[in-house]
Amino acid sequence: MRNHDLTKFKENVLWALTNQTLRKNLNRAITHTLSKRIEVVSELTNWEELREKAHNIRKHTIENLAYYLENFEKKATENGIKILWAKDAAEARSYVIDIARRINAKLCVKSKSMVTEEIGLREFLEEKGIETVETDLGEFIVQLANEMPSHITAPAMHKSRDEIGKLFAEKLGVDFTNEPENLTKIARRFLREKFLNADLGISGANFLVAETGSIVIVENEGNAGLSTTLPKVHIVIAGIEKVIPRLVDLTIFFKILGRSATAQRFTSYVSIINAPRNKKPDSPEEIYVILVDNGRTNLLRSEKLKQALYCIKCGACMLACPIYQRVGGHAYGSIYPGPIGSVLTPVQFAFDEALILPFASSLCGKCHEICPVKIEIHHLLLWLRHKAVEQDFSPWIEKLIFKLWLIGMKNHKLYEFGAKILRYIRKIGIKPELKNWSKWRTFPEIAPKSFREIWRRQESK
Ligand code: SF4
Repeated sequence: MRNHDLTKFKENVLWALTNQTLRKNLNRAITHTLSKRIEVVSELTNWEELREKAHNIRKHTIENLAYYLENFEKKATENGIKILWAKDAAEARSYVIDIARRINAKLCVKSKSMVTEEIGLREFLEEKGIETVETDLGEFIVQLANEMPSHITAPAMHKSRDEIGKLFAEKLGVDFTNEPENLTKIARRFLREKFLNADLGISGANFLVAETGSIVIVENEGNAGLSTTLPKVHIVIAGIEKVIPRLVDLTIFFKILGRSATAQRFTSYVSIINAPRNKKPDSPEEIYVILVDNGRTNLLRSEKLKQALYCIKCGACMLACPIYQRVGGHAYGSIYPGPIGSVLTPVQFAFDEALILPFASSLCGKCHEICPVKIEIHHLLLWLRHKAVEQDFSPWIEKLIFKLWLIGMKNHKLYEFGAKILRYIRKIGIKPELKNWSKWRTFPEIAPKSFREIWRRQESK
């Protein structure tokens, strides 16, 4: 399922809820990761302190974003890295294609990056005739399946081993296997060839360090290391919020990121890239960093919503969300699904049709509880709901119900009269049908007597 159409949210949810295979795959993956996460988080006695520190660093950085970005640009430029600023997706793509054409690139290897998903880079490069291969295993799987990632750190979470085995057999012409080790070997064989022949490597960045001008990438498969060192030119595409002030801040982020993203104590590989080959022998000849805004300043302008930029894209809030757990990432129709995606999508991309997403929440606050940088996601969702209602987003029937309810609440005689009518309707056996609501739930029984009636009777005794 590759569906970017946000207007299809309700259809997508119905599709997901009735897809037993998807429910099973999600359930297995999420239960496993969450239980492992509890294990690795409980090993740290200072987890809450780390969250608090990480929150404060992110808050301070976002409050002083221009200062730290300028520092990063200055230091990275001194190190020989070229910095480009992209106000939107089109500008970011045009920088990439200009570089690719200048070096006559035919083959590009890409490591996992949500910003490149956000700007539709792979599809764009392929349209322009540049073969572009995802090298992260999960991304490689969704590329073969022509799907979008269903989770920001586990893109193929919605797929079972059997489904992946069939996909590899169909698309790569290999014998069917559902053994993870064999599947990995197949992908490795295919990708090794691509790494060796690639002209261009593209990656994202987990952090950009202002103090040193360093690009920091964490990963588990070694593919980012190969994508960023083997090709002659490396382009980093990162959101402007990725900057952090100091190298020492990584000691906190490394502890919380692995545990939150993949329930690991530490990710297998960390690359800290400082300069191109003219200064270091094991890196490309040219390194570019494209700093992408693409709607992030919409968030920055809002006092309430700017905390969404503290996000370090670990994906934990998705796993904790009872809605995401049931419908998975594709149902949201956005590159960024789940609770934080429901904040980012309508604001960052200014999609009016995405205003439905903040309603895809039970407001239970589990997203906030699990968030390693303590973003109050549930408050942001509630605030966006309020904005949606102000923008006349709710259907007329909902508005009518609330207007009648308000009139009734202001006048107790009218309220009691309305309650009597409802009781009478129920008594003669009519069940109110509220489309989409009563289809999935039993309409609650109406109390035979109202509270006031019971109270009056008590008083009169
Ligand atoms: S909002 Fe918090 S939990 Fe969700 S992806 Fe961002 S950092 Fe992780």
